[in-house]
Amino acid sequence: MPDKERVLPQIKLKYFHNKPDKGQKPVKYDKPCYYCKRKFEKVGSVLDAYSDRPKMVCEDCAIWAYKQQEGFRTKKAAAARRRRMFDVNYLFQELIIGLYLQNNDLHSINELPDEVFEKIMEQAKDVYNSFYSKEAKVKIEELETQDEVERELTKALPFINL
Ligand SMILES: [Zn+2]
Repeated sequence: MPDKERVLPQIKLKYFHNKPDKGQKPVKYDKPCYYCKRKFEKVGSVLDAYSDRPKMVCEDCAIWAYKQQEGFRTKKAAAARRRRMFDVNYLFQELIIGLYLQNNDLHSINELPDEVFEKIMEQAKDVYNSFYSKEAKVKIEELETQDEVERELTKALPFINL
């Protein structure tokens, strides 16, 4: 049973600058948040996503729902833990990007051709899902330090084929 009060430190991203949604197109939502009924810019989660009536939930309410569902004691602890589900994935992508840059004597992510970037994203997803079980992913997400997370993710890097 994980500690429901622990606030996991935030993963520091190097290439995505902690703004992983930056590259996404802004989407205009004509409907307010399904829970709080307020207008919002950042989607936290989508309920009934695959139905013909998906319900959009704002980030704040998504964290609140996650807190209730997972039994966290504080919103801060829930937000930090929830953040990890995304950031561990981004960190894995970044490790692969770093490796590719190093192996090809490139110095910036801007030097990556689009097709290589797309291939990296694809491989990151495939290898992450095949190398780690559901339980292993949870364990990684709940590691305290970024060093520990990186050490664990590095084990899957040999299976990347670029
Ligand atoms: Zn809301």
